[in-house]
Amino acid sequence: MTSSLAWRREYDAAIRDPQAFWQKQANNLPWLRPPKHILKHDANGTPRWFAGGLTNTSWLAIDRHCDDGRGADTALVYDSPVTGVVESLNFDELKAQVSRAAGMLQGLSVGQGDRVVIYMPMILETIVSMLACARLGAIHSVVFGGFAAPELAARIDDATPKVLLAASCGIEFDNVIPYMPMIEEALALARFPPECCVIKQREACLATLVRPRDLDWDEAMAAAPCVGFTPVDATDPLYILYTSGTTGRPKGVLRDTGGHAVALNYSMSAVYDTHPGEVFWAASDVGWVVGHSYIAYAPLIRGCTSILYEGKPVRTPDAGAFWRVIEDHRVKTFFAAPTAFRAVRKEDPEASLLARYDIASLAHLFVAGERLDPSTFHWLSEHLPVSVIDHWWQTESGWPICANPAGLGLVDAKPGSVSLPVPGFDLRVVDDEGVECEPGTTGNIVLQPPLPPGNLYSVWGDHSRYLQAYWSSFEGLYLTGDGGFRDEDGYVYIMGRTDDVMNVAGHRLSSGEMEEVIAAHPAVAECAVVGRRDETRGQVPLAVIVLKDGINIDAETLAGEVIVSVRASIGAFAYLREVKIVPRLPKTRSGKVLRHLLRKIADGDDWQLPATIEDARVVDELLAAL
Ligand code: AMP
Repeated sequence: MTSSLAWRREYDAAIRDPQAFWQKQANNLPWLRPPKHILKHDANGTPRWFAGGLTNTSWLAIDRHCDDGRGADTALVYDSPVTGVVESLNFDELKAQVSRAAGMLQGLSVGQGDRVVIYMPMILETIVSMLACARLGAIHSVVFGGFAAPELAARIDDATPKVLLAASCGIEFDNVIPYMPMIEEALALARFPPECCVIKQREACLATLVRPRDLDWDEAMAAAPCVGFTPVDATDPLYILYTSGTTGRPKGVLRDTGGHAVALNYSMSAVYDTHPGEVFWAASDVGWVVGHSYIAYAPLIRGCTSILYEGKPVRTPDAGAFWRVIEDHRVKTFFAAPTAFRAVRKEDPEASLLARYDIASLAHLFVAGERLDPSTFHWLSEHLPVSVIDHWWQTESGWPICANPAGLGLVDAKPGSVSLPVPGFDLRVVDDEGVECEPGTTGNIVLQPPLPPGNLYSVWGDHSRYLQAYWSSFEGLYLTGDGGFRDEDGYVYIMGRTDDVMNVAGHRLSSGEMEEVIAAHPAVAECAVVGRRDETRGQVPLAVIVLKDGINIDAETLAGEVIVSVRASIGAFAYLREVKIVPRLPKTRSGKVLRHLLRKIADGDDWQLPATIEDARVVDELLAAL
């Protein structure tokens, strides 16, 4: 075994006695009242961490650093090449803004347990909003700004927020995207629209506010009092984050307060090796889990400086943008998705722009969100002076499940592997019958409970869906939805989703959701969507459509219409470009679409004819069409 002693010791300790291990980690954070129980089952029978402990995430992320005399240290740096603004907030300034925003929400009768939907781009107000909700014990649900109105409406209806906090626009490269039309449409579509919206007016596009429903963020803030934090139980919810499941309905992943804080704080030291006062940059969006965990919460809880970057890897202004930010803000730990580096590499294959910048502050580069393809791995390894750490996790876990733990002294890396399970995650690979696989054999990646702190503990408003989606496939084991294998040394290799979830440029998309939109087209009898391999985005959706009998529509017109409706219903980031008409779909005799076979054929991979296929001749038809 090539793993470091420190990892082995820590990993074994967490598996042998999870309660003792996590109590020790909990002791690394202050508590308003220490937990009464380290692990206790709740009314649903779900093991919950740190019950009876009183805390508040806003206090942990801000106030306690101010109280420790660190108020003048930089908490957040907003670096926005799209607006030309660079602005910092120290912990004192962040406290002033967050406590005022909490006062504003309180004035709108938001209190503990109430939901607030946040539909904002990468601006300081987004982080302030999240922390203001946390300050009151209100539950936020951030909706990625790229989502179209129907997706926003679906999330509003599920979360039933009292207030919507939004911005007047997002900015992508030099495109200003007004949010108000989308908000208006979503509010009209929603069955449970909030009574109040607070809109941050951005210079690039002023929204027309509808009074009295809408308030101006700046005016409301100016009139609001600053308020303190509300102590909440460690098991109280902090946020809901919707993620794509296998069906059309997004799942509201529910995160608790105390376990989340303890897990993130532990990850900052054990996985990311980043300490108070150091600079951490996750080049993601606050609308995704990486943004929640590693732009907003973990760096601040740890007392680090976090970078909020409103720009892209390329064209803002060029493929040297990442290196520029690292130099300007002395970033120690950098985290981005492989797709971002593929974009950089495409524009600057020799990384010649790197020579213009001093990136000596950089100690660690982490990538996640999708498979790190070997060629991107080699390109990064060749050009950057630090090792490239591929690590694997998901919205549900909230923090890394497998990683090369930089804070535990790193283990020997193996290209293609996400290294070893992080202490606390008891990972197994099982076959479809639930029997543990031999090393080298691919199977379903599952976790043995108790899941460590920070992992989801329910689906908002639908606990049965949580049980069904995650706990019903293999008795007593948590289903990650990913397939892969472990080698003789226990190193984990992720081979991709075993369900109908695609990963487009690091964004998770449900086949079922896109199929629902496409099936609504009047010419479509049935359809299937799969993720097809793509050099830049990892995967891109491919829609395969069977026309209704007697319909006469040319392929180009149909493709154009379907693409427009997916864009309008889900969002441009869904990136549907390829639509093919086929005589029929590959199906099992029981009528289930064989997406797996379809994907292999589309990718030109080796495929095997499933014994259950309804009619093998469909394969020749697909080979001809794709
Ligand atoms: P999300 O919940 O949107 O963060 O997506 C999580 C999914 O992205 C995982 O279940 C994996 O399928 C994929 N994923 C994340 N990180 C990696 C990685 N390092 N290697 C391979 N796949 C990954």
